[in-house]
Amino acid sequence: MVLNLKQLYRIAGERVEIKYQIEQDVLKEYNGYAFVSPVLVEGEAFNRTGIVYLNYSVSFRLCHNCDRCLKEFNRDYSFQFKHIVIKDAEKADDDEYVLSDGDKLDLDELVISDLLLQLPSKMLCKEDCKGLCGICGADLNVSECNCKRD
Ligand SMILES: [Zn+2]
Ligand SMILES: [Zn+2]
Repeated sequence: MVLNLKQLYRIAGERVEIKYQIEQDVLKEYNGYAFVSPVLVEGEAFNRTGIVYLNYSVSFRLCHNCDRCLKEFNRDYSFQFKHIVIKDAEKADDDEYVLSDGDKLDLDELVISDLLLQLPSKMLCKEDCKGLCGICGADLNVSECNCKRD
């Protein structure tokens, strides 16, 4: 979705509600992550005393392979984000600020980059996953094997 900011930039007090979803076929391009649901986006953009704020939350479900035992599992995520939207590139190096392309903001692109940054780099099916035996490959969550692992 592309957000048109024309009115928002111009009129103090203006408010736009955001509620949509990013479909899975768009998400497919972001390889490395298997989305098993669309990304639901809900929030608002508003102009308060001449400054345009964008607050939104996302929720979605990913399918992962556990880094230790390789088992496949699904996990639900939800995050909240807050930004100030500006046209002027000078301040845009600050994380809080998002630069629009004139009066337009590509919300899909922003949402996806925001949420990817929040995802943990290690994916475990459970915190105390015992993983696989390095010798026989048995899933040690399921059963102990007889290998002598130091
Ligand atoms: Zn595991
Ligand atoms: Zn073993």
